[in-house]
Amino acid sequence: MTVMDRPASIADRLDDKTLLRSESFIGGQWVTGTSSFEVSNPANGEVIAEVGDVGAEGARQAVTKAAEAFETWKKVSPFERARILMKWYDLILENQADLAKLITLEMGKTYREARGEVVYGAGFIEWSAEEAKRVHGETLPTPFPNSRGWTIRQPIGVVGCITPWNFPNAMITRKCAPALAAGCTMVIKPAPETPLSALALAELAKRAGVPDGVFNVVCGDAQKIGPVLTGSDAVRMIGFTGSTEVGKLLMRQAADGVKRVALELGGNAPFIVMDDADIEKAADGIIASKFRVSGQTCVSANRIIAQPGIADKLVEALEARISRLKAGDGFAEDSDLGPLVHMEAVSRVDALVKQAREAGARIVTGGKRLDEELGGAFYAPTLIDGGDPKMDVACHEIFGPVASVYRIEREEDIIRLANDTPYGLAAYIYTRDVNRVHRLTEGIEYGMIGVNAPMVGAASTPFGGVKESGIGREGGKWGVEEFTELKYVLLGGVDG
Ligand code: NAP
Repeated sequence: MTVMDRPASIADRLDDKTLLRSESFIGGQWVTGTSSFEVSNPANGEVIAEVGDVGAEGARQAVTKAAEAFETWKKVSPFERARILMKWYDLILENQADLAKLITLEMGKTYREARGEVVYGAGFIEWSAEEAKRVHGETLPTPFPNSRGWTIRQPIGVVGCITPWNFPNAMITRKCAPALAAGCTMVIKPAPETPLSALALAELAKRAGVPDGVFNVVCGDAQKIGPVLTGSDAVRMIGFTGSTEVGKLLMRQAADGVKRVALELGGNAPFIVMDDADIEKAADGIIASKFRVSGQTCVSANRIIAQPGIADKLVEALEARISRLKAGDGFAEDSDLGPLVHMEAVSRVDALVKQAREAGARIVTGGKRLDEELGGAFYAPTLIDGGDPKMDVACHEIFGPVASVYRIEREEDIIRLANDTPYGLAAYIYTRDVNRVHRLTEGIEYGMIGVNAPMVGAASTPFGGVKESGIGREGGKWGVEEFTELKYVLLGGVDG
């Protein structure tokens, strides 16, 4: 591996039409890899960048740098850490347009959504900067004469962080901002589809004054980098956002070192519409929850469970809205949905729809690939009705622009169906009956529930799931606590 002089920022090079070349960011320096991989735009298949793969050796170097930096960063006053984080926050907002451009180029979401992601992601930095000053312990009563007990919260240490492509900016800030606020240092392995957003965040962190070695980004083969992070004694915690399958694997790998794991995994969100709900609002909510990022979010509505009394009206309201949605290049002003992340995703979603059709469900609108027509990884916004909740499209995380409606009458059957999945991330309930709100929110097993609200995430609230959707919470005061150890001190009585 070669250490390079700092290249111009990735964002600065965006308008340069030549292929972007990028390196990893280790110990405050840009480091090339021993091989490289390509990043392409899913809206048209064009290769936009070539990124060096630093492999296991790069990961080891980054862990060493992060461990060295931890010795000083943990002693930096929380007030100073807060100032640096606020500077990072300001720089991210100043560069919102360029960061959003990178997101749209790398993974396809619309530029409007990408700008929203940058603001959402930056919110975690602002919140964590404020929270840095509120990480404190308590004094405790003890049964021992003249003694005092107290707790302190200290940063856990070096955190290995592995992130997905669907929110290439916010899934990094949601982990790194609280970790840095708490006094931890990070080694981040971004998804291979979206390394540029991670590297641009590193560049801005450096400009904000984050010391060298505190925030490292290693790009390359997950099979080589992952085991270094989970196997190193210097890494005390693994923070992962991605699929449940990979989360389980990392948890098993981390078990040998009894490392803390924070896992934000897959979901299969029920969107429950009761017969007293405002149908127009419920339909708007489903569009917002289901079609944002072309359905590629872990909290996307996956199963729309409607009481039969209002199901026809709901399907009608949805059909009107979905048939108007336009898929297209994320930079086009009239695009409501961008492409899926790659062509394999298009084939996977198409297979789910085909299986539903074969199982007797009605495809109300959409239900077809648009890749040939639009020249990229596009799938038509789709509505399925009348299906069986045992179909693949109901049992698997769709991760695509496909909404499917299931008609269930009795409240206890609705709760049973909502819980009939290994997942438990987000759920949505539309009703105007407060008693139903209590029965349903307490009956369903989910980490986050939106009642008459289609989006639940915010910097101030706890984000995370139960069951196979994960362990731990990001956001709010809980997000910072995840990155700390609780230490108890007993001061014994002194004679005389
Ligand atoms: P994924 O395949 O699990 O990949 C996520 C990250 O893990 C990528 O950086 C990937 O790198 C890496 N990875 C894969 N195998 C690995 C291994 N053996 N060791 C170390 N790292 C490894 O998930 P995805 O397809 O990118 O993302 C979609 C999933 O993420 C969905 O299930 C979605 O629900 C979930 N998600 C959850 C949340 C949440 O907050 N709960 C948020 C967003 C997404 P490579 O691609 O190089 O293998």
